[in-house]
Amino acid sequence: MATYVVLMGPPGGGKGTQAQRITDELGIPQVSTGDLFRAMKTQDTPLARQVQDIMASGDLVPDDITVQMVKERLSDQDCAGGAILDGFPRTTAQADALADMLADSFDTGVTVAVLIDISEAEAVKRISGRRSCPACKRVYHVDYDPPKQAGICDDDGTALDQRKDDQPDVVRDRYQVYMNKTAPLISYYEERELLERVNGEQPMESVTADLLQVIRKRIK
Ligand code: ADP
Ligand code: AMP
Repeated sequence: MATYVVLMGPPGGGKGTQAQRITDELGIPQVSTGDLFRAMKTQDTPLARQVQDIMASGDLVPDDITVQMVKERLSDQDCAGGAILDGFPRTTAQADALADMLADSFDTGVTVAVLIDISEAEAVKRISGRRSCPACKRVYHVDYDPPKQAGICDDDGTALDQRKDDQPDVVRDRYQVYMNKTAPLISYYEERELLERVNGEQPMESVTADLLQVIRKRIK
């Protein structure tokens, strides 16, 4: 049976970091809608421009565009065993669409939705120091998880980037969007008995250990 793990939590909560740490352990790929949308930056189409403008403002990309993109990605061969969904679903409509697509196409459902629980203050601290590799997408933090050589990716030597939407004014808007549109998914998955919580305010290795424990307990 394929395994579909939903990682939830506020922007800066550690979803991407943890997805990268558990993908090999679980043998399923990370599917980050944020990364997929950022990859559209190189396209010069009205849709790609619309997506970049929405992301720069901190708002959510419309559900129909997001759901279609995830549907296509999950049908790729490397997702045959499932996926770690990082940043999707972010609205109740997306969660319903995910349940429908998993039932219709793969005869299954979400295995577990894990909330990485951290305070707004900690999320803001993390976001302000976040840097990422534009080539391999590895995420660093200038203080908490620095590369060996400042500003350079350990894995491929590429110069690290700071995301435009990690500026303080956009971060505040993204946090509000999270509270209004995404946080309701906590009770959505709780009602369906799919929710697990881990304390995100621990060292990365401890968060990873807790995550693997709650996920493995749900894998049939
Ligand atoms: P998200 O994908 O939820 O937006 P990220 O995984 O990109 O969050 O993490 C945000 C920032 O916080 C990154 O710079 C990352 O290096 C750092 N970070 C992630 N987890 C921890 C942790 N447990 N302790 C300290 N810093 C962390
Ligand atoms: P992230 O990399 O997860 O922080 O996402 C960056 C941005 O991409 C968000 O602020 C949204 O504009 C967009 N985005 C990512 N995932 C979704 C989603 N599931 N639904 C709508 N917009 C999304």
